[in-house]
Order: sequence, then C-alpha cells, then structure tokens
Amino acid sequence: MAVRREVYLDHAATTPLHPEVQKEMCHILENTFGNPSSLHFYGRAAKQQLELARTRVAALIGARPEEIIFTSGGTESDNLAVIGAAFAGRSKGRHIITSAIEHHAVLDTCVMLARNGFDVTYLPVDKDGFVDPLDVRKAIRRDTVLITIMHANNEIGTIEPIPEIGRIAREHEITFHTDAVQTVGYIPVHVDALNVDLLSLSAHKIYGPKGVGALYIRKGTRIQPLLHGGGQEREYRPGTENLPGIVGLGKAAEVAARDLPGESARYRMLCDRLIRGIKERIPDAKLNGHPEQRLPHNVNFSFCGTKGECLLVGLDQQGIAVSTGSACSSGASQLSHVLKEIGLTPELGAGTIRMTVGRSNKEEDIDYVLDALVELVERQRAFDEKV
Ligand SMILES: *Cc1c(COP(=O)(O)O)cnc(C)c1O
Repeated sequence: MAVRREVYLDHAATTPLHPEVQKEMCHILENTFGNPSSLHFYGRAAKQQLELARTRVAALIGARPEEIIFTSGGTESDNLAVIGAAFAGRSKGRHIITSAIEHHAVLDTCVMLARNGFDVTYLPVDKDGFVDPLDVRKAIRRDTVLITIMHANNEIGTIEPIPEIGRIAREHEITFHTDAVQTVGYIPVHVDALNVDLLSLSAHKIYGPKGVGALYIRKGTRIQPLLHGGGQEREYRPGTENLPGIVGLGKAAEVAARDLPGESARYRMLCDRLIRGIKERIPDAKLNGHPEQRLPHNVNFSFCGTKGECLLVGLDQQGIAVSTGSACSSGASQLSHVLKEIGLTPELGAGTIRMTVGRSNKEEDIDYVLDALVELVERQRAFDEKV
C-alpha cells in the first residue's frame, strides 16, 4: 500500500489562494481602507489599487481597462451579461440563443427571462459536447438580441468554437456573451480573437479569492445594470467596491498571465498521464468531452457498472478529492444536464467522475490516484457481480 497522500483534483470547483495573491491582499487589508470614491488621499490610494487591478485583468484577456467591470463572481457576471443585454435589447426583440450545456448561472438566468416574456432557444450539442456554429446561424431570428455560449464546459472540458460563433453574431449585429470562467488563466483568452462583446471570469477559479469576478464589456455594447445606487464601475455595478477581493483578482490575473504557458503545458501533461493510465488499466472507461479540444486541466470519465458517489467517497478516504457528474437529490442520483445532453445513459452517467488538476499536483499524485481509482472501480464491479 502506497503512503497516503493528499491530492486535490477539484480545481474546476475552486482553487486555493496563490501565496502571492494572499500577500497582496493582506497588504491591502492592513494598509488601504479608504473608499475608492473619496477624494482625499485615503481614497486616492484605494482608487489607485482598484485601477491597477483593472489594468491587470484587462491585460490577461486583451481588453482595455475601461472595459472591465468588477462583480461578486462568475455567477453575477453571467447574470449581468445575460439579463443586462436582454433588457437593453428589448426594443429590438426578445429572443435569446444559448446552449443546453451552459453553467447554471447562464441557464437558470435564461429560464428566469423566459418566465418574463423572453423566448430562449437552447441549442443541442454533439456527443463530444460541441455546439455547431451552423446551428447558431440557423437559430438566429430578426428579434434575436443575445447569443450566450460558454467558452469551455466546466464538467466535460470541451472548448467551444467561440471565434466562429462570434463572427456569426457580429455579421448579424447580435450581442455575444461567453462564460470564460473555466478558460481564463488556463488557455490563451483574447476578446478580439474570440469576437466576443461580453465575457465573464471569476477569481476563485484562478487562485484568487472567492466572491469576486469581472465582466468584460466591449466598448459600445449596450447592457442595463442589475443594481442601482452609486456611480461605481461606470454605473454598471454600483456599490462600494470589494477592494481586497478586487486586488486579489488583479494579482491572480497577473500571476496567471505570467505562468500560463508553463502551467498549462504541465496540466496537459498530467492529464494525459491520467487519461492514458485509465485507458490502459480500465479499457472500457469512457472519456467524456472532446479528446483534443478540451481544457488542459480537465479529465472526465464514466465507468460502467460503478456509482460516481461511491468512487468519490472511496477516493476521499484515501485523501483524493474529485467531483461527480451527478447531483444527489432526494436520495436518487440525478444525471447532470451536461451528461444528459451528450447522450450518456443514466447508468453510465451515474458512474462518472471529474478530476481537474492544478498547481499543487505532481506526477506522483497522478500515479497514486490511478492505483486508487483502478482498485475502486474493480472492487465495485466485482461486488456488483456477486449480488
Ligand atoms: C464556477 C463557474 C461559474 C460561477 O462562478 P462563481 O464565481 O463561483 O460564481 C460560472 N461559470 C462557470 C463555467 C464556472 O465554472
């Protein structure tokens, strides 16, 4: 039996604070309490930090600082983009196009809008999780005011053809939003290369603090704010700013931009090792999501004849943290909307786990996880055969 390790493989859910981020946040907490809107030097010091953070976030995604609005996280950024663009476009029409595999922050927001007079088209995806740009083109109507398609899926890791969809949106002069919470900091993200008007990102997925994020709003894009009050964030997001959080996001963005090429290649290497090992030792395991067009840090597998929750618990007992593809609601395990959409049967979907690597993971961790996982899958299958 190998020595017990602690292996965190749930970086798509959240990441720990990077030490450099923590240091910068502590410095702000200790030294800079001013309100960035105040005109005296306490305020000016805070304002300077706020704008430095804005510059750093803008640099990470190829935007201009004045196009960055700070929010309370990915969820709020998605809500602000989708509701904001839908409301701003009401005089033109009430049709929205999205995909069936969006994060709930987009999906549930669209459901709310549909209950309030909007018409929403949910595009299907293929077995690898791809949205077909042709389907987007076909779904466009005269009254379409918003297209919102995620950059990469948080469960299965598939990277969507955003530049192409963006080109189609632009041809039709329709506002285009992408939820890039899973891609920013992991693969190169440039708002002009992606042809997007609105882009959501979140700090805690890139080694920043929880409860802070940003929305990129391309100059000239019309959106209505969700909150009303002061004039902060150019009135798109009023309220005194969460300065320590924003400074943390700014530092996380700077570190991400600096380390992206090396870390991204390292994540890819670790995931390749994990995928190769699983395929070799559990030949009937099914890799979910596209084999190549996927996030460098995401591995998602289904093992027939197993239960994801049981695998999660078994791995947890050995110090390994993963997540499943199903949410346990009222005792019965419910297949996630994403796994359902890519066509997994309830049986196969139930045996699904997601493993997402990050900074702390090393090759030895992957080998440790492989041994533990293979044994658990075999044990579960053997047990099922007996009963
Ligand atoms: C985590 C996540 C969100 C939500 O971000 P929060 O900052 O936790 O609100 C939205 N979209 C995707 C794709 C995510 O992975």
